[in-house]
Amino acid sequence: MSQSLVTMSYIVATILFILSLSGLSNQETSRRGNYFGMLGMAIAIFATVLSGAVTSYAILFSALAVGGLIGLFAAKKVEMTQMPELVAIMHSLVGMAAVLVGYANFMDPSTNLTGVEKTIHEVEIYLGILIGAVTFSGSVIAFGKLSEKISGKPLLLPARHWLNLGLLLGTVYLGYVFLHQTENGGGLYPLLGMAVLALLFGIHMVMAIGGADMPVVVSMLNSYSGWAASATGFMLNNDLLIVTGALVGSSGAILSYIMCRAMNRHFLSVIAGGFGTASGGEAAVVEGEVHPIDAEETARLLLDAKNIMIIPGYGMAVAQAQHTVNEITKFLRDKGKKVGFGIHPVAGRMPGHMNVLLAEAKVPYDIVYEMDEINEDWDKVDVSIVIGANDIVNPSALDDPNSPIAGMPVLECWKGDTTIVMKRSMASGYAGVGNPLFVKDNTRMLFGDANKMLQEVLKALKG
Ligand code: NDP
Repeated sequence: MSQSLVTMSYIVATILFILSLSGLSNQETSRRGNYFGMLGMAIAIFATVLSGAVTSYAILFSALAVGGLIGLFAAKKVEMTQMPELVAIMHSLVGMAAVLVGYANFMDPSTNLTGVEKTIHEVEIYLGILIGAVTFSGSVIAFGKLSEKISGKPLLLPARHWLNLGLLLGTVYLGYVFLHQTENGGGLYPLLGMAVLALLFGIHMVMAIGGADMPVVVSMLNSYSGWAASATGFMLNNDLLIVTGALVGSSGAILSYIMCRAMNRHFLSVIAGGFGTASGGEAAVVEGEVHPIDAEETARLLLDAKNIMIIPGYGMAVAQAQHTVNEITKFLRDKGKKVGFGIHPVAGRMPGHMNVLLAEAKVPYDIVYEMDEINEDWDKVDVSIVIGANDIVNPSALDDPNSPIAGMPVLECWKGDTTIVMKRSMASGYAGVGNPLFVKDNTRMLFGDANKMLQEVLKALKG
């Protein structure tokens, strides 16, 4: 393939990636966005394979086959609830790729750059390995936290900010040594030393972040993985990789900003770790009477209500209750009731988690509302049903300054007439905080697996 054809293909792929991102920003166009992304990636791979830059097709196709099969197997096997973990571990692979490409580039005997070009190339290598190593170790720890293999509690080392500063200064110093040593053909040791510091930084940064702040970490590592890919593009002199990485990096940064705003956090405080935990006292203990309810009474309350709001959370994903929820929604709307869905930006375990589940169950998009659209209107709601949600409806975020989720906006469903909370026990949510909503006078607890209980409610509604 001629170089100009390769360049053309890269431009087409870039346009398709941009169209893909704009499609993904809206539920109605997200399917189209995905197709654009797939087509763009196919063109990108095709053009790269035929670009003449490949020295061994046998190695390339073996790598494509192995990588493709692992991806296919992982995507088929993964449960919807494990999707955030899969995304985290995929980010770690991007980081690892950047590190490996960085070392391969450093050791490549065929590069014979001189002067400023040589220095720029070395800086690219240094930054590529730095970003890659932080992304790699941070994503592995995020994977551990999301899969609950590592505790969600923040690790708060006594001098953690100094430690972070020390690691940062260490990498700057090693960068200086690296550039100095490469003049005499050396540089491997500072490069290795920096990678160790960057790996430690990634581990420490994510370990220090409390459960409730994990959404920001997930989106932030998404952004880092983009910058790591971009750095790889610089090292490999591949424009498409630079642009694609920058698209992922910047969209991830915007997502991090949105998540921070949704949680009323400052980005830097989240990154510094332990936010919300340094407020001194203990979070309040929840005391009061619990009012349990059964499926029949739930059905009766729903039939009596005019305006119903459904609040899905992580438990709906665990129970895979979205299809039953849709059936109940259809039934109630056919009976002339107004039914809406209130989505908190950090509900579930990844950005957009609930929207994906509801779209899968074919819940109409126009009755799915964002938190900001409905948080003023709770006094008009007769019954709200909280399905496997906990932290996102916790009033202590607003009332208890000592709570780890203090300051986070929540869906204030308790301001409606009656709230029905569906969950299996009184256990706390991801942030590990007790929830006073469960003992409020106008709250009814419907205990049990969300899907099983919703099926009973549907039976009672139809009966
Ligand atoms: P939570 O994790 O706070 O609560 C989920 C609740 O679901 C639990 O209390 C659990 O209670 C219940 N549950 C679990 N399984 C079932 C089941 N089969 N049937 C019925 N109920 C069930 O979820 P939320 O969505 O309210 O909040 C999300 C949390 O996750 C926030 O703290 C957020 O910061 C964090 N997070 C979000 C990310 C994102 O990007 N969205 C990423 C990482 C973390 P019980 O055991 O009693 O049934």
